[in-house]
Amino acid sequence: MIPVVMPVYSRTDIAFDKGEGMYLVTADGRRYLDFGAGVAVNSLGHAHPHLVAALKAQAEKLWHCSNLYRVPGQERVAGRLVAHSFADTVFFCNSGAEAMEGVIKLVRKYHDETGRPERNRIIVARGAFHGRTLATIAAGGQEKHLKGFDPIVDGFDRVAFGNLNELRAAIGPETAGILVEPIQGEGGIVPASLDYLRALRAIADEFGILLAMDEVQTGNGRTGKLYAHEWAGITPDVMGTAKGLAGGFPIGAILATEKAAVGMTPGSHGSTFGGNPLAMAAADATLDILLSDGFLEHVRQMGDLLWNTLGQLVEAHPKVLLDQRGAGLLQGVKCKVPYGAVNAALLGKGLLAVGAGDNVVRFVPPLIVEPSHIAEAAAMIDAACTELAADL
Ligand SMILES: *Cc1c(COP(=O)(O)O)cnc(C)c1O
Repeated sequence: MIPVVMPVYSRTDIAFDKGEGMYLVTADGRRYLDFGAGVAVNSLGHAHPHLVAALKAQAEKLWHCSNLYRVPGQERVAGRLVAHSFADTVFFCNSGAEAMEGVIKLVRKYHDETGRPERNRIIVARGAFHGRTLATIAAGGQEKHLKGFDPIVDGFDRVAFGNLNELRAAIGPETAGILVEPIQGEGGIVPASLDYLRALRAIADEFGILLAMDEVQTGNGRTGKLYAHEWAGITPDVMGTAKGLAGGFPIGAILATEKAAVGMTPGSHGSTFGGNPLAMAAADATLDILLSDGFLEHVRQMGDLLWNTLGQLVEAHPKVLLDQRGAGLLQGVKCKVPYGAVNAALLGKGLLAVGAGDNVVRFVPPLIVEPSHIAEAAAMIDAACTELAADL
């Protein structure tokens, strides 16, 4: 008989009852150090007092009122995002896929609005992940996500991630834009080189097409800048973000320049729940911390420490671990044994991590992580790898 919860996930048989900062706790009191953060979502850990207070206060005032009316929380959060990014304007939705679906629509609409409606194809990268809606699985192009869901949404041309020759060759009269993740997350924590990102900006300008970024996972402080493209010193025309933006409350956002958003006029796009007062209270409180003095510097320092720590572990366990990749607090270790075995061994030691493509175990701790947590995680990774190596 089919489970009452539709069985679309292969879930680990464990359930958490509460969270405390860097830890998740089961109903029977087992504590786990959380280096998965709900897949890079719980940017400030669990039950952060500032977020709890903000959400409680808003919950007693107003949950939902519709985008038929002004929503002051949206004006405030959008204003802060605009002040701290390339963007001039922000659209709020509820998830990463919804943000990326909107990014795709915006790219198409821009050219329709500026008199080139034939420009409606977007160049995307192999190994990408942009979400699970029909358009975003087409953009991601992963066979395992597309199979059985024909007809595939048209309008995407795929090139090798990092290859500029292929990219230039793929540009034609119907090309509307380029869409990439600055670091491919689900694809296996594969960073684009900063030169590649700079070249994408130059090529987009040369051909009059839009540069779109998927910062659903890399954004909101994850790499030690508010948005990862900042490392390259470039700006996209439009970007989708989501995961960590509201510290665990469902949210998505499209950030765009005024020029790119020229077609986004009343009636062109929308969402019932998008930007509701609860989500805006959570995002505003999250931004209080992300934008506070020294916080992103803390993320950079912890990222360096995690990088050095994982480097030592890769060196110490050559039978189990192959190499490391990533940036900031979005890091991964490519495994020599199946990553599922490594993940299960880590769970056995009390450490939560997340799998990614290319046989990678992903470490995406809450950004509030401290050196003591990294040391605690290192001891558990060390013990798990020793155990796995003994069984080989
Ligand atoms: C998680 C993710 C998405 C999809 O976000 P959902 O909230 O699951 O819809 C899209 N793009 C990237 C890069 C992601 O990491």
